[in-house]
Amino acid sequence: TEEVLRNTEKLVFAGQLAVGIAHEIRNPLTTVKGLIQLAGPTSGLRHYDLIMSELDRMNLIVGEFLILGKPQEIRFREDWCMTILQEVLSLIEIEAAKNNVRIRCTCIREEKISCDRNQIKQVFLNILKNAIQALPGGGRIDIVLEADGGYQRIRFIDNGIGMPEEVLERIGEPFHTTKLEGYGLGMMIVKKIIASHRGILNITSEPGKGTTVEMGLPIG
Ligand code: ADP
Repeated sequence: TEEVLRNTEKLVFAGQLAVGIAHEIRNPLTTVKGLIQLAGPTSGLRHYDLIMSELDRMNLIVGEFLILGKPQEIRFREDWCMTILQEVLSLIEIEAAKNNVRIRCTCIREEKISCDRNQIKQVFLNILKNAIQALPGGGRIDIVLEADGGYQRIRFIDNGIGMPEEVLERIGEPFHTTKLEGYGLGMMIVKKIIASHRGILNITSEPGKGTTVEMGLPIG
């Protein structure tokens, strides 16, 4: 137990450190992005789009660290999953199209849930990003909404590369990633947010066949 404690302490410390750094980096990052944006794509700056997209990537990473460490003030409101999902889909549309991924939404039944809209957005975004990245040659993602047993269920089904047992078992562990440019934080955030909503999460996957991420969020 002593070692477990020590490891936990270390993790907490590393977390605080990461959040501290993320916080310090965010403001200059915003300044740099703003200045480059102001100059505009026609300013003669080479690789404008690449610079912008890399800055966005940095922002995203920094944002993820900040979410992790911030004692979240969660604001629960009644909301429809489909509305939140539509917003996320419009955010991710371009990335999906670039990767030849088609996303189809089916709503079998929907009930209002009580949730923090921004956090649920983050959850959908992280799951969809993973699904797109699991489809390197393109493919399809199906999202199915169904309400039963007191839960609004949302299933994300991709027919992508899937994952072996040992990856599935460790999903949600911080920094556990199989990607070259991954951080292994996405699913940890997903788990954390779903737990704070008293929801349930179930992931099934088969290598070469695809992955289904199913969550249930309490109705009402
Ligand atoms: P990251 O995407 O940065 O690696 P995540 O926590 O979101 O971090 O995911 C952890 C790992 O889980 C990924 O590296 C990948 O191996 C696996 N994974 C998650 N979602 C999927 C999916 N839809 N299909 C296949 N593998 C996935």
